[in-house]
Amino acid sequence: MRSWSIPAGRLFGIEIRIHLTFFFLLMFVWGLEKGTQDSAAALRGLGLVGIIFGSVILHELGHALVARREGVPAKGIVLLPIGGVTILDEAQAIPDSGTAWKRDIRIAATGPLVNLFIAGISTLVLLSVVPHFQLWKQPLVHSGYLLRSLVWANVYLGLFNLLPAYPMDGGRVLRALFSRQMDPIQATQRAVRIGHVFAILFMMVGILMSNWWLVMIGFFLFVAAQLEERSAVFHSVLQSVRLEEVMLTDFATLSPADTLEDALDKAVHTLQDDFPVVRGSDMVGVISKQKILDALRSDGNGYVQAAMNRLFEVASKQESLASAFRKLAARNLSIIPVVDEQRLVGIITLQNLMHSMALLAESRKLRKEGLDT
Ligand SMILES: [Zn+2]
Repeated sequence: MRSWSIPAGRLFGIEIRIHLTFFFLLMFVWGLEKGTQDSAAALRGLGLVGIIFGSVILHELGHALVARREGVPAKGIVLLPIGGVTILDEAQAIPDSGTAWKRDIRIAATGPLVNLFIAGISTLVLLSVVPHFQLWKQPLVHSGYLLRSLVWANVYLGLFNLLPAYPMDGGRVLRALFSRQMDPIQATQRAVRIGHVFAILFMMVGILMSNWWLVMIGFFLFVAAQLEERSAVFHSVLQSVRLEEVMLTDFATLSPADTLEDALDKAVHTLQDDFPVVRGSDMVGVISKQKILDALRSDGNGYVQAAMNRLFEVASKQESLASAFRKLAARNLSIIPVVDEQRLVGIITLQNLMHSMALLAESRKLRKEGLDT
């Protein structure tokens, strides 16, 4: 998602990005209005797009700010032609404490409530400031009537997002309610199934009414629900797998007294990219193949001791994969030594994590299929 979007500034410290497909929508609206009428109408069309996306940004900011207050930082907001997405950094969230469902409901509900609030406030202001303001006149949302569109676009955005169709906000509230009685994966799967029903309904009604916008929303909903389910499974694997299940136990170590040339020689005979440096039974540092090469190139042959990285994180073998990922990411590390009562018992590297994640997912699938038959 990141690679297809461009940064568009920050609001309250939260990065706003615009997805490239969004510009197709702008060109589409411009072309549509320009082909039929004058350029003032085209400008009004863009004004309508501005109103809608301004409302979408405020909706997403609602999610992001409440999430931040609840301890789940937002990585950013991405604007898509069908709406916005707030990407939360759930790895940073405090692990489930039994009240997470309340937090999830607050985060999900705030977005639609922001829109309903804007609709309410702007109605009050318009009715008191603009004489004979016709709130109920058709068409409710149209580029020719920008003020009325401001009210109704927000009513639509609020109500539409409250539909219990996961991963829309109403569906997220539903999922949070399910998660009181079942584990998070089951809750997600149940919400996803309901979301799929809505997605299919949208597509069917859209086809019957030749409303291609509705068909597209249904299609996106279907795909999004699928993706959410997968990421929920991924997160649960991260939380439930202990490091001792996936760490490499057969690995090479270096000594601080090794020369870099010796170290390179050892490195040639293994697939490992990163090495723990051990003196006796003590971990004293880590060094990568690349670092050995760089040091040899710039300073000639020296000792591992001088080139190794003394700042490293260790993990205990009972820690979860999620915690290892956090440590790797937080310090931009590529290796974490795993210790048991101060003794080095294994290593976790980025390379081997990616591998073991794929294997674990497969083995769980096999086990599940085995149970089903
Ligand atoms: Zn929302």
